[in-house]
Amino acid sequence: MIRFEDVTKRYADGTVAVDDLSLEVPRGGITVLVGPSGCGKTTSLRMINRMVEPTSGRILLEGEDISRRPAAQLRRHIGYVIQHAGLFPHRTVLANVMTVPRLLGWDRGKARAAAIEAIEKVGLTQDQAKRYPAQLSGGQQQRVGVARALAGDPTVVLMDEPFSAVDPIVRGDLQAEVRRLQQDLGITIVMVTHDIDEALTLGDKIAVMGYGGHLAQFASPAELLAE
Ligand code: ADP
Ligand code: ADP
Repeated sequence: MIRFEDVTKRYADGTVAVDDLSLEVPRGGITVLVGPSGCGKTTSLRMINRMVEPTSGRILLEGEDISRRPAAQLRRHIGYVIQHAGLFPHRTVLANVMTVPRLLGWDRGKARAAAIEAIEKVGLTQDQAKRYPAQLSGGQQQRVGVARALAGDPTVVLMDEPFSAVDPIVRGDLQAEVRRLQQDLGITIVMVTHDIDEALTLGDKIAVMGYGGHLAQFASPAELLAE
């Protein structure tokens, strides 16, 4: 569904973050990019929604070269979740979740309905929806981040270290939740983590990246464990 073809990213200072990456993220399921800090995971993820542009190579979504689509149009179908949720502190949970459908141009009523539905999907209450981010726990804030990504009804959700800042018990709950959401909604998730256990727990396919932005392996957890 998402295909990297010989993708290289060299930043302006000469750093090669991703080196000749080719892989195909299958439709549905969870594909995890794992590897040590600095191996190009975030850069790879951000090339999917054109926050970062490849230096060479191309990325196809449903067979279509994404560089030919306006980034804003592409992002209509791609949700994005980051480590510390990235919530606006002075907006309520509901207002935070509404930002994505509002950015997509939906009218206030439709955006509000979508936000309420997304908040419910991630297991938060309508009472929590009225609070401000600082009034929620770290794990609940991450749920809000996931709700915001889902509120625009995406087909693909990109997640960058979504659970690394929460404690291990909450992390387990969130992982289970993400798996359930992936299955219920039939979305395709691409997730970045430096945690191999998380990759093995959640990944249907795992891309193991190494220093210099090389792809070392692209396999299922069973295949990786067999080695
Ligand atoms: P990871 O997500 O695996 O930690 P990144 O994709 O963030 O890796 O970074 C890969 C490499 O590219 C690192 O060496 C990092 O320092 C470098 N890098 C990331 N963003 C930039 C940037 N905007 N300019 C220059 N170098 C960058
Ligand atoms: P950081 O540098 O802290 O990782 P970014 O600059 O990547 O943060 O993003 C800033 C904020 O914008 C985040 O809260 C992120 O959720 C939001 N954002 C960025 N790109 C998108 C996108 N394509 N779709 C939805 N939200 C986005």
